[in-house]
Amino acid sequence: MAYSPANDAASSDIIIIGFGAAGSSAAIEACTCGANVLVLERASAGGGSTAYSGGFVYLGGGTRVQKICGFEDSPEEMFKFLMASTPEPDEEKIRMYCDDSVAHFEWLESQGVTFDDSFYPHKHFEHPTNDGLAWSGNENAWPYSDKAKPAPRGHKVFVPDGEGKLGEGGFHLAHTLAERARTLGAHIECDARVIELIQDSTGRVNGVCYKKFGENKIAMAKHGVILAAGGFGENKEMAKKYSPELSDNRVHIVGAPYADGSSINLGLQVGGTTGYIGALITAPFYPPASLMKGILVNKHGRRFINEDSYHGRSCTASFRQPDGLAYLICDNAVFERPEFGGQPLIDAWETVADMEQALSISEGALQKTIANYNDNAEKGDDPDFHKTKEYLQPLDNPPYAALDCSVGKATYTGFTLGGLKVSKDSEVMDTDGSVVQGLYAAGACASTIAQDSIGYASGTCLGESTYFGRRAGRHAANF
Ligand SMILES: Cc1cc2nc3c(=O)[nH]c(=O)nc-3n(C[C@H](O)[C@H](O)[C@H](O)COP(=O)(O)OP(=O)(O)OC[C@H]3O[C@@H](n4cnc5c(N)ncnc54)[C@H](O)[C@@H]3O)c2cc1C
Repeated sequence: MAYSPANDAASSDIIIIGFGAAGSSAAIEACTCGANVLVLERASAGGGSTAYSGGFVYLGGGTRVQKICGFEDSPEEMFKFLMASTPEPDEEKIRMYCDDSVAHFEWLESQGVTFDDSFYPHKHFEHPTNDGLAWSGNENAWPYSDKAKPAPRGHKVFVPDGEGKLGEGGFHLAHTLAERARTLGAHIECDARVIELIQDSTGRVNGVCYKKFGENKIAMAKHGVILAAGGFGENKEMAKKYSPELSDNRVHIVGAPYADGSSINLGLQVGGTTGYIGALITAPFYPPASLMKGILVNKHGRRFINEDSYHGRSCTASFRQPDGLAYLICDNAVFERPEFGGQPLIDAWETVADMEQALSISEGALQKTIANYNDNAEKGDDPDFHKTKEYLQPLDNPPYAALDCSVGKATYTGFTLGGLKVSKDSEVMDTDGSVVQGLYAAGACASTIAQDSIGYASGTCLGESTYFGRRAGRHAANF
């Protein structure tokens, strides 16, 4: 929309749309650079999906916590891992993100987001303690373990007045960064839904139109507008277009209700284009870790993944099996109930042949898979999928149980990854590879580090949101 501002239109240096991790990080950095910042937030308070999150931030290369907990890491190994674990890695952004990771860790701590110098050693998808470090991806699972020296990089935000229980870390991160932005002078206007971007006669984005309690309002920005309004999981049409698996009704979308893709659509309307877009889809069957000693098989009775993979990878692989059918097969020695109960127990049988018949798997197929697996496990080997020795043991202790990991049976949840194509400084790019002047995007609405479920490491979303949010704020302030 082209618009000539009335004399009384509110004017700031920078307008930020959305007040989650990306928006607050952008605001902090822009205010620190001396800019006058207006944040427009659609909800009655900030936080967005950040406040729902686990509070894991993917950091490495030798952070204080990694060193104190006895883990060696380097930016180069972190770089190798992130390059190997994303389908279309953006080398420049990954390189910067890894080289700056220790400094970003220190920046977060200097804003009040701290990490405890302790390590959580067990397999979990979001450990229920305040320990500051955990394995949060596929670093020590094949094939990634062959491509980069493994190190845990999931840094979980410390919650001073809490215990680190589910969701506490994300809420604390969102709250701490928001308060910091406020303290530095950012003006936060809530219940303000941005509906359109304003461009000057050259096409430069220099303002926004927003709706507040039914009234349309205008705000102008001298330096730029930063889109930080989150992902698009709540927008069925967009999910269908960009990530069909996520639009499956059997996947529960998690996160903030206003993750409706408005940032991405606002960017597209002024010439922006999208980068790599994917989703995290998962239904963690662990903890307990003993379940990783079981085997995942499809309706043909065949294995398809190393079960010690990070849950995003093993569960997405299950989701993609023929007819969405997948079973976790255990014997009496390894069976325990999944802690979060997302996989129904189908039944238990005295013999593999009985189980095979009950699961309608062709006669002999499952028996062959298990016999083969047991032979190799006996030798501490898994030539097909390279499961680590720690989780390899023959399944020969009846009764045998099957947990249902099938789509529609197990509780699959998901959220989006990626959005607008951006430069290393978070400037929105057009289809020709030029910058859309005056417009930035960061966080879940931009394509930077996190790309898909198969290689996903928890913490990369909050990592990219805070890191590239900061870059957007700094670049816009210095324009
Ligand atoms: C359950 C769950 C757990 C997760 N755990 C982790 C984790 O541990 N580590 C990790 O890295 N990632 C995690 N993620 C992903 C991560 O939370 C998100 O990718 C990240 O929070 C995105 O931050 P953001 O600032 O881009 O968006 P958000 O935090 O969603 O903030 C966007 C804000 O924009 C506002 N908004 C929307 N539309 C408009 C509009 N038109 N005008 C004005 N304001 C608008 C929204 O109300 C919202 O407040 C998790 C996600 C979920 C759902």
